Amino acid sequence: MSEQNFDIVVLGGGSGGYAAALRASQLGFTVAMIEKDKVGGTCLHRGCIPTKALLHSAEVADVSRESAKYGVNTTFGGIDIAAVTAYREGIVASKYKGLEGLVKARGITTISGEGRLTSPTTVQVGDQTITGGKIVLATGSYSRTLPGLEIGGRVITSEQALALDFIPNKVVILGGGVIGVEFASVWKSFGVDVTIVEALPHLVPNEDEAISKQFERAFRKRGIAFNLGTRFSGVTQNENGVVVSLEDGKTFEGDLLLVAVGRGPATAGLGFEEAGVNVDRGFVITDHRLQTSVPGVYAVGDIVPGLQLAHRGFQQGIFVAEEIAGLNPQVVEDVNIPKVTYSDPEVASVGLTEAKAKEKYGDEKVSVYDYNLAGNGKSHIIGTTGSVKVVRLNDGPVIGIHMIGARVGELIGEGQLIVNWEAYPEDVASLVHAHPTQNEALGEAHLALAGKPLHAI
Ligand SMILES: Cc1cc2nc3c(=O)[nH]c(=O)nc-3n(C[C@H](O)[C@H](O)[C@H](O)COP(=O)(O)OP(=O)(O)OC[C@H]3O[C@@H](n4cnc5c(N)ncnc54)[C@H](O)[C@@H]3O)c2cc1C
Repeated sequence: MSEQNFDIVVLGGGSGGYAAALRASQLGFTVAMIEKDKVGGTCLHRGCIPTKALLHSAEVADVSRESAKYGVNTTFGGIDIAAVTAYREGIVASKYKGLEGLVKARGITTISGEGRLTSPTTVQVGDQTITGGKIVLATGSYSRTLPGLEIGGRVITSEQALALDFIPNKVVILGGGVIGVEFASVWKSFGVDVTIVEALPHLVPNEDEAISKQFERAFRKRGIAFNLGTRFSGVTQNENGVVVSLEDGKTFEGDLLLVAVGRGPATAGLGFEEAGVNVDRGFVITDHRLQTSVPGVYAVGDIVPGLQLAHRGFQQGIFVAEEIAGLNPQVVEDVNIPKVTYSDPEVASVGLTEAKAKEKYGDEKVSVYDYNLAGNGKSHIIGTTGSVKVVRLNDGPVIGIHMIGARVGELIGEGQLIVNWEAYPEDVASLVHAHPTQNEALGEAHLALAGKPLHAI
């Protein structure tokens, strides 16, 4: 048995945990970070980074297929999945190496093994007792499934989908949220016949309805099939494939079923409740400042109810380290955290949707401008359609920005500054956007909302 003492002990080395550890060490605390697998967690090894590498391969495939449109003759020779995997794994390995180096350089003690909270100040890892003045819980999430829907064989989650060493012919995807549509987009570009089954009335159902509808049109145009508004009832599989049934009796066949119905909190059996931490359906309940029901024990990332995004984890990790240091950091509400869906087309948003804004403030207090990317030179050049929709309070700030089109994810940086700095459209309209950029579309939407449209009617 050994015992070690630190100012702060972080349980879990994913986006939330490692951000807390990095910031805490910068602030002069001694920090232990306990990780049972690989520092970097879901985002680096099984989520954000490898899926975006896949999406980039998919984009290159589409560009090479369509290059004649731009006067460049190429021949699309097919997808070499082993080479795609080598490229994807190379990116992850290099980011992992960089992160490990950073953690080491900051003097963080990384402890390998599965930790269990044994009191408000101790975590047990095998026969090591790790004691912390403060504890940060950051154990992340796992791919959820539905009751009675067993993962195995041809029924897979995003982890197995990423690791496939072949390209299937036909896939059914359960769930039209961000993970489902990103895999649909990749597979379609790789030549797979894809059908998405979503119980809600729209794909990307958490987005502004106008954006969801445009997204559905774009997917339909790409030949990605989807069935909306009916719930899944069951799946059978044999050596030839899967048959997925819905509650209305419809069936869909495929080589595989990807289950992409969300992610559950990874908190079971880790001693949280026994130590007095309030847990609800597996999620760790915190106050507004991320402290759990046990003073001195904090939680960050996907185990805290709300948006499950890596950059929310980063922000929460930094927040908790600064909170412990008494720096009184600023809370960022989930609604003001930018969200990006990296499929083709991309969707990016921050703040309230039009419907939510009207529900909150009343129809007459809200104005909306929807700028069509058809008017944006750069979008036309790169061959994308889409729009930038801005929601404002009348005589007040911008409270929501919703975009769709190729590369719009890169525009959300400005979008989140506008919403979080509570800028008025008039403030944005008086500033300059470079020409020709897609960024100009944001400028044009704000010019229009400020009553002085330039390249718009
Ligand atoms: C396919 C996919 C694509 C995604 N794409 C994006 C994207 O593009 N952008 C985005 O913002 N988000 C994306 N996400 C979500 C993002 O990955 C998560 O929001 C983020 O990883 C959450 O960070 P976390 O620190 O809370 O948890 P995790 O990253 O899950 O990290 C938790 C860590 O804790 C460790 N751990 C758990 N229990 C213990 C224990 N008892 N002892 C020791 N270690 C433990 C785990 O091994 C893990 O490393 C994606 C997710 C998936 C699955």
